[in-house]
Amino acid sequence: MVAVVAMTQRKIPVMIPLLGEEEALAAADAVRSGWVAQGPRVARFEQEFAATVGAAHGVAVSSCTTGLHLALVVLGIGPGDEVIVPSLSFIATANAVRYVGATPVFADVDLATGNLTVETVDTVRTPRTRAVIAVHQGGVPFDVAALRKAADGWGVGLVEDAACAAGSTAYGQPAGTGAAIAAWSFHPRKLITTGEGGMITLDDADRAVRLRRLREHGMNVSAADRHASAQPVLEAYLETAYNYRMTDIQAAVGLVQLGRLAGLVEQRRALAARYQELLADLDGLVPVRDPAYGQTNYQSFWVLINPEFGATRDEALAVLAERGVSARRGIMAAHLEPAYADVAPGPLPVTERLTRDSLILPLHHALTADDQDYIVGILRDLARR
Ligand SMILES: *Cc1c(COP(=O)(O)O)cnc(C)c1O
Repeated sequence: MVAVVAMTQRKIPVMIPLLGEEEALAAADAVRSGWVAQGPRVARFEQEFAATVGAAHGVAVSSCTTGLHLALVVLGIGPGDEVIVPSLSFIATANAVRYVGATPVFADVDLATGNLTVETVDTVRTPRTRAVIAVHQGGVPFDVAALRKAADGWGVGLVEDAACAAGSTAYGQPAGTGAAIAAWSFHPRKLITTGEGGMITLDDADRAVRLRRLREHGMNVSAADRHASAQPVLEAYLETAYNYRMTDIQAAVGLVQLGRLAGLVEQRRALAARYQELLADLDGLVPVRDPAYGQTNYQSFWVLINPEFGATRDEALAVLAERGVSARRGIMAAHLEPAYADVAPGPLPVTERLTRDSLILPLHHALTADDQDYIVGILRDLARR
């Protein structure tokens, strides 16, 4: 009799957040404490996160998107102003510009890093340019020394979209160190998560005070401080603002996650190095790498498909999906989306190449060497076609 072997299809997700019993207990502690809105855990998370990325102040917010919005508000950006952004980014980068009534202007990116450069920004700069939002794309740091210096010289603000960059480094320091203002994400697709959530980091104390007010209805004293005071505190509302607060339940999870960051980066970098080795002889595939000036946390491990590869990006995605591998298209390009159909950007050839011809391979703490061999085996079959 022939034994029937049940071939269970392998399922490899592109990303899994690392959430353990410690996070569950921390969240439960916050709930049991009775204080679930923004409070002492948020304050601690702000301090510890800011210290981790080398910033003087951290202001927790509800997401990176709301953080980017507030960053533009404190820079005084508004209608009539232009803000240069990469089209090659998650759409929130461009959307934040529209939230303040300003005009997003798309600049092209560097093929190797997927990031803005001094040259690509300078190409689309006009007298109305007031700020640049540069993204550490997929965790790959942009050249912070070059872009900060150029932005200063042009007299424009530089906001760092560090959504994906927790644990990345540039010039030997954590991404975010020395940033005029940076915004971070704790969405589960990033290295550390609070479910939803974000952080703004900066060194300027006055701006930090205003940001705390802007995230909490424009109040001159936080609800937590009012509660802690023995005396009645009559708050004032100094400007029209927002409710962009993080909860203490989220911050409790974030504090535990922060303790995992260094280990996660180390593990991701080891897995990425193994992918790079296994793929080294495939001329048609170019894996993302560290730039000369820094190290990526490999939040996204993308490969660029060259014409000599045996399949197009979409064919590769389809074959991977058939075999249970959840890869993803490369980073999106905002200017190709219906929401930005009314924008007529200049030429963005590298952006269009990267978004059309790259794909993101699974990379997470639970990925095994065997999973990697399986994924690379599929890519090798495709290359031989
Ligand atoms: C994920 C992401 C965002 C949005 O982060 P949220 O916390 O989900 O708002 C913004 N910019 C970039 C580059 C991102 O990858």
